[in-house]
Amino acid sequence: MSDHPNSYSNFLPDQRWWEIDQERFRETDALYRIGEWAIFVAMWKVEDFNAGLVQRCPTCLTGESAIDATYQQPTFDRCPTCYGALYSGPHGGVKSLQIRPSIWQFGEKDLQWLRRGETEIQNATVTTTSDVRLWKRDYIIRGDGLRFGVNSVSGVHLSSGFGTQAHTQTATTYTYGIQKEHESSPVYSIAPDTNTSIQILNALYQRYLPNFSQYEYDDGPQGT
Ligand SMILES: [Zn+2]
Repeated sequence: MSDHPNSYSNFLPDQRWWEIDQERFRETDALYRIGEWAIFVAMWKVEDFNAGLVQRCPTCLTGESAIDATYQQPTFDRCPTCYGALYSGPHGGVKSLQIRPSIWQFGEKDLQWLRRGETEIQNATVTTTSDVRLWKRDYIIRGDGLRFGVNSVSGVHLSSGFGTQAHTQTATTYTYGIQKEHESSPVYSIAPDTNTSIQILNALYQRYLPNFSQYEYDDGPQGT
C-alpha cells in the first residue's frame, strides 16, 4: 500500500489534548501536595529593551559613554535600581514576581574558586508549574530566605497524537538548574526582604490556597 517505511500501526492517532491536560493536572497536584512555596523573580533582559518594553536603568546606564561601557562589566552589579539587570521598569530591574509551589532537589555542596575568593556554591534543581517561565539571570527565592540564580531551564514536554510538534507538545512543568547567590549579591536587595520572604513562604497550617496577589506582579512577557 505504501511508499512509507513500515510501522507497527497503519494509522496516525489524533491529537488528544485531554491526555496532556490530565498529566499536567497530576504533576501540578504533586507540586501542591509535597512541594513548598517559592518566589520566582524574572528580570528585564536586552530582548525586552530591544522590543521597546523597558528603559535603560537610569542609575547605571545613563548614556552611551565610555563609563557606561565600563559599568556594564559584571563588577558593577550592585545597582540599587536594577539589581544588575541594566534595565529598569515599574519595579526596577524586576519584570515579574510570582509565588508558586516548587519541589527542590539539592546537589552536594562544593567549593569553587571564584574571582572574589573562596565561596561556597550550592546547586539545586527546582521544579514548578508550567505558567512560570524563567531564564538565565533570573532568580528564585526559597522559604529559608536563600536566593538562587537560574543557570539552566528544562521543560517536561508531552506529546499526544501525530502532528507538528509545536501543536502536539506542551509543557507540564519546568525544572530550573540553580546556584546559590552570594550574600553580597544585589539579588538580596530585591523586595520582599529576606525576613518578609520567609514569613510569606512559611505560613503554617494553610489549609487553603493563600492569596499572594499583594506581592505578585507581572510587567512584561515571560521567557526572555
Ligand atoms: Zn542599574
